[in-house]
Parts: sequence; C-alpha cells; structure tokens
Amino acid sequence: MTTKLIDSHCHLLLGHIWGLRYTDQSRNNLYLAREVRKIWASAAQVEPVGLADWVSIGDWKFVMERYAQSPVAFFNGYTTCRFDAQVTALLLLCYRELSAGRMTLGLGLHPWYCYRGILDKELPELIALYDRLKLRAPHLLGPCWGEIGLDRKRKGLLPLAEQQAIMRDFIAATKSRCPNYSWHCVKAHSDLLATLKTFDSDPGPSIGGVVHGFHGSVVAACQLAERGLKLGIGPAVLRPEQEENWRRLLRDPALADSWLLETDHDQKRYDDALLSKIAVRVDSLRGAR
Ligand SMILES: [Zn+2]
Repeated sequence: MTTKLIDSHCHLLLGHIWGLRYTDQSRNNLYLAREVRKIWASAAQVEPVGLADWVSIGDWKFVMERYAQSPVAFFNGYTTCRFDAQVTALLLLCYRELSAGRMTLGLGLHPWYCYRGILDKELPELIALYDRLKLRAPHLLGPCWGEIGLDRKRKGLLPLAEQQAIMRDFIAATKSRCPNYSWHCVKAHSDLLATLKTFDSDPGPSIGGVVHGFHGSVVAACQLAERGLKLGIGPAVLRPEQEENWRRLLRDPALADSWLLETDHDQKRYDDALLSKIAVRVDSLRGAR
C-alpha cells in the first residue's frame, strides 16, 4: 500500500533560508548569499564551480542525506524566492549522488515573501535559472513552477490585489516555458480561479498544476478540479477535528483522481514517517479499510 510514495510538494531548504534572509545575518550567510548569486550570474556552465567553500558552511550534507535515506521514492521540491531557488539548485547539483533521479525543483515566488517590486528584482534571475537548468540539467526541473499563490489569511502580507497582480504577471512571464504551477492558496480559491480565467483566451496550452495543501469545502475542491487542477493533501488530513470534511472530500467521486500526497516539509530534518502516515489516513478516510 505504501510502496513508491511520492512527496508532491516539499521544500529542501525553507527553514535554512528563513534564517539566512530574515534573522541570521552573520558574515558567513551574507557571504554565502553573494557567492551563490555570483555562481549563477557568471559562468555559462551549470556545473557548480568552487562549491567546496560554501558547501562546508552549515549542515547542507546532513539535510540532503535525510532525503537520500528516506523510504519516500520521489520528491517534488519547491522554492520560495530567488535565493532559495539558487541555493537549492546548487545543492541538487552538488549532491547529485544523493538526489539522483529522486528530486526535482520548482521555482517560485511565495506570497509570504512577496514585496513590491519583487518581479523586477527576482523574476529575471529565476527565469534565467530555469533556462540554464533546462539546457544543462533538465532532469532537475519538476512538473510545475512554484510555489506561487494567494493568501487571504496570514497577516502582514501584501494586499490581495497586489498578490494577485504579482501572481498574474509571474504566470504571464513563465507559462510559455511550462504552463503548470504549484499554488499556495489560502481562503482565496475563487480569486485563483478568477485570475486563471483571465488567461483562457490566450493561445497555447491551458494553465494547470496543483493547489497544494488544499484546505476547503467540497464545492471549492470541485470547482478547482473542474478547472483541471490537482489538489495536494498534506498534514492537515491528520487533524481529527476536520475528519468529517476530509471524508466527504476523499469520497466524492468527482474528486477521485484529484489528490496528490505531500508533506510541505520545510524544516532541516525530513520526517521519514510523515508521508506514509498521510497515505494511511487517506486510505482509511476513503473507506479502503
Ligand atoms: Zn510549500
């Protein structure tokens, strides 16, 4: 039952990056940030050059080994800002023997970390990174860009209209490369659908992807599924207080093919057992017994 589990949305480094960007402004970390940017800005090659210096900073190897040793078969890793993307991509290249064939990367600008002007400042480098990987290490590119999205609940973020404008411009700039996205969407399902609708008359493939960490009603889930989006199901399914809603969601025949399992892991130490706990719970709520 738990063979070949795929973690469809996790973060390799978020905990580390938070520290780097927001709290720990130690000399080593500032040095690291500058070096990583330099590496991606310079050589036309994708091979990490001179990594020994910065890889020894922190416990990156420990982080990667936790993934490598996990019984989970495959990971779709996502990033939240330019710096997260640049470090994660380098790590996957650097620890290739640990990640080989088991990890992919999605590049995004998470709404929690968006600020005015972020597209000018970060998007060109993200797209350049995507193009570089596509050319030199295409196996590292996952099925979606991300994560991007909308959040009506968390305090202190940009107003929803600005989040929506950033998300829309991000999609407009990236969809010709890959039209799929991993969405962070909190209490904003109809806003997401409204934004996607604005692309409906565009030529080319329609926009798809996954609403990760889905949290909402059967009605919302069905509207997203009708739009062709998958739904990520994560640790929230383990909470007993929402059992009835999850049972309805998981037993709805219209949603039978919609679900992807995920941990949304973002700490240093990958929790080996979490994804299989989620899988077991999903099976039992579905009535598979
Ligand atoms: Zn996430």
